Amino acid sequence: MDTTETRTSVARSGGSTDPFLNLRDPAKRLGPDGKPAVSRRAPIWEDVPDEKWNDWRWQLSNRVNTLEELERVLNLTEDEREGLSAPDKFRVDITPYFASLIDPDDPNDPIRLQVIPKGQELRAFTGMMEDSLAEDRHSPVPGLVHRYPDRVLMLVTTQCATYCRYCTRSRIVGDPSQNFNRAEHEAQLDYIRRTPQIRDVLISGGDGLTLAPKLLESVMRGLREIPHVEIVRIGSRVPVFLPQRVDEELCEMLAKYHPIWMNLHFNHPNEITPEVARAADMLTRAGVPLGNQSVLLAGVNDCVHIQRDLVHRLVENRIRPYYLYQCDLVEGAGHFRTPVGKGIEILEGLRGHTSGYAVPMYIVDAPGGGGKIPVMPNYLISYSDHKVVLRNYEGYITTYEEPTTYTPHDSASCAYCRSPRPEPGQEGITGLLDGKKMWIEPAGFELTHARGNVEAHRLQDPSKWVAYGIGAIEGRAGAPLPVLEAGGAGSGEVPGRGEAGGGAAAPEYGPGEEPRPAEGMPSGTANHELL
Ligand SMILES: *Cc1c(COP(=O)(O)O)cnc(C)c1O
Ligand code: SF4
Repeated sequence: MDTTETRTSVARSGGSTDPFLNLRDPAKRLGPDGKPAVSRRAPIWEDVPDEKWNDWRWQLSNRVNTLEELERVLNLTEDEREGLSAPDKFRVDITPYFASLIDPDDPNDPIRLQVIPKGQELRAFTGMMEDSLAEDRHSPVPGLVHRYPDRVLMLVTTQCATYCRYCTRSRIVGDPSQNFNRAEHEAQLDYIRRTPQIRDVLISGGDGLTLAPKLLESVMRGLREIPHVEIVRIGSRVPVFLPQRVDEELCEMLAKYHPIWMNLHFNHPNEITPEVARAADMLTRAGVPLGNQSVLLAGVNDCVHIQRDLVHRLVENRIRPYYLYQCDLVEGAGHFRTPVGKGIEILEGLRGHTSGYAVPMYIVDAPGGGGKIPVMPNYLISYSDHKVVLRNYEGYITTYEEPTTYTPHDSASCAYCRSPRPEPGQEGITGLLDGKKMWIEPAGFELTHARGNVEAHRLQDPSKWVAYGIGAIEGRAGAPLPVLEAGGAGSGEVPGRGEAGGGAAAPEYGPGEEPRPAEGMPSGTANHELL
């Protein structure tokens, strides 16, 4: 609804005193006919009765997927014809509701780019991988990804309401013959039951909200019967592609299994329609806090102004921007990728300029399965033993004086510190700061691989996540890099790395013994005067 429409709605309510009609609430917006606002329908569906159009089952069974059908909805480009004609492409399927949001004559429509394949997606690129997050390597049972100590990703289905061309899980998503069923759900639940450190379960897929309602409820119930599962999160794009699915029945079912959180997936303000506003309102009223995860996509939302409008429309609907993901190195996504600098620029354009609630965290999901890595613009410029140098969103630089009297936390008398850690590996970076360690290596790293041989560490299972290397430096293209044995056998092939490689000499000091700059020597600190 544009401003003129809002004004007309406000004018229409003029004079009515009771009850108060809140026309600023996007879930209550009215259309020109005075009825709840609806979004546009493509001409081919104009005659579909409302009961059918608003029925999620009708939307699902009338999805468009062939060149012939899409031709009746959009004016297709040559590139799209090539993409739609490719035999082995990632599945195409679009709900009539979502397809109707596309401007049929705009080849660069941001919704269109996300769901209509282009010939370009068939092209390989340097660094491309099939399973770029190495999820299969972190799967103890099919469909369960256990990467972090206290939480798991539970893939309950391979089906979605509509398919995104840049899908990070395109290796498994979309194929109806590869779906997960009750037996797999039972195996997943069984793993969670046997793993008491799991306190947070993320239901994803595919899209869990496309499961048959009974099956979805049996998964929810199965999880809620496990006492150590504290929160359940659902990651879903159904409210975006198929807001009709969010009905009273779904909300009542979910509310039985609280605490439940939900992350949605909007990439562009055009996706936030009156139907979406009502669906989000219903979920929020059912007590489900809503977040949003976007993917930074070239041509779709690689613009600070689009992103600012998107996050404003989200918070207006009580959806909290959670993550903005850098596009993964996945097959089919090459033409969507942006430099990381673009994401940093967007974050700088949001932080401070708009509500903190509206600012997502910018994440690069580590290729090879290291998990999510936040990327922040630089606000902490420097610090000494007593002063921190900071800059604000305008470029204003200031200092924060550290306290001179700070009694360190007494971990010996702190009950939280003394309670046993549920799993190892939580010391993290503090060992480095304490001077107990000079570096951190994954468990077993030193035993099996020459120190510093980063390639050998990363390539333990070359079949799963070696970059294809298309267009890579001559001599390395396509071939996995050699995995070094302890003692440096074969290490000559990776020159300049590690002790055995004959490159840099081993340091003469041990962990915690690194030399300090002598008194009066420059320490390399910038912003000298401020410090
Ligand atoms: C994203 C993800 C999570 C959840 O990460 P949060 O940062 O807690 O949102 C958990 N497991 C896997 C495998 C993931 O990819
Ligand atoms: S909704 Fe999610 S899982 Fe489904 S195709 Fe899109 S990105 Fe992939």
